[in-house]
Amino acid sequence: MPLQQNMNNSLNFSGGPGALPATVLAQVQEAIICVPEVGLSILGISHRSEWFAEVVRELENNIRRLLGLDQGYHVLFLQGGATQQFSMVPMTLLHGKTEPPEYLHTGYWSGKVLGEARKETKLRVLWSGESDGFHRLPADEELDFSATAPYLHYVSNETVEGLQFHRVLGRDDVPRVCDMSSDFLSKPCEADRFGIIYAHAQKNIGPAGVTVVLIRDELLQDMPDNLPGWLDYRSHIKAHSNYNTPPVFAIYVVLLVTRWLLDDIGGLNAMNTLNQRKAALLYEALDQSDGFYQGRAAMADRSLMNVVFNLATPELEQRFLAASRDAGFSGLSGHRAIGGIRASIYNGLELHAVEKLIDFMLEFQKTR
Ligand SMILES: *Cc1c(COP(=O)(O)O)cnc(C)c1O
Repeated sequence: MPLQQNMNNSLNFSGGPGALPATVLAQVQEAIICVPEVGLSILGISHRSEWFAEVVRELENNIRRLLGLDQGYHVLFLQGGATQQFSMVPMTLLHGKTEPPEYLHTGYWSGKVLGEARKETKLRVLWSGESDGFHRLPADEELDFSATAPYLHYVSNETVEGLQFHRVLGRDDVPRVCDMSSDFLSKPCEADRFGIIYAHAQKNIGPAGVTVVLIRDELLQDMPDNLPGWLDYRSHIKAHSNYNTPPVFAIYVVLLVTRWLLDDIGGLNAMNTLNQRKAALLYEALDQSDGFYQGRAAMADRSLMNVVFNLATPELEQRFLAASRDAGFSGLSGHRAIGGIRASIYNGLELHAVEKLIDFMLEFQKTR
């Protein structure tokens, strides 16, 4: 018997876990009962099976192909979310270093990063948008990168405030570490200019439970030797992301998403074109609303993934959200930290859903 479809899933603008492509969901539905080539449910396949080793190999390979990543990098699939990386990065990179690492404080998530990093090290906050309420990102002139920092950390897309860097920051002689959780595989990202990139799956490329980490091999040369096994990247490298029981299901779904990116979408340039189109339409709708809908982020720093906006009053915003739910939309309320409205338009969210949202917004403005 076919399972009942949730008719509104295509209108899910959730900030995360985010909506996944319908074709991927159909494959997942089948795999829950039986992965065709194995004859078992994905939920009961051993992580020590040859089949799963091949899943990990193919996924690693797909990510390398999508990003054009060279062999100098390890590709890992870890648990603990992006949050675990907030700590693992300083635990790994600061051994024997005396200079402080540099961090940017550009929004809610980079604030969380700072909180964890400070437990490991003294650090230098190179720039903070906190006093400004995180409405914009720094320009190059505002950033005085040190040549002697052990690394630079920043968040490429601030998911809560809807701010995204549209360039690579920092110096080529200082390793860049970037949390790309909410824009990974949404566009090409010049991955080989980074020392470490980490991104959990649940915004753009899969369900919660797995975090992709790309790490340049040379950064592991002088790691401390006393880390717990799980917190030592080398354990996971040696075990091919199978050090302890990995999240087999989540990793399989991410594999399906990378196949979709390669075969159906046609790679990251094509994905970027689609994402640009969705974002341009939605921002245009905000900008042409005579101020009824006010974009939160500075124009130059607007995120292609999270379109954050306000209406005149919190009451009007609540009415907008209630009406949007009645119309079949979900996930549009802003993050609890800042309120307002947030339309997250990750890879899996289709253009027609954005068009429907714009129609709804026009209608709401007319009839309120
Ligand atoms: C959602 C989010 C996180 C939190 O990740 P967890 O997997 O829940 O630990 C971290 N960074 C960014 C940029 C996010 O958007």
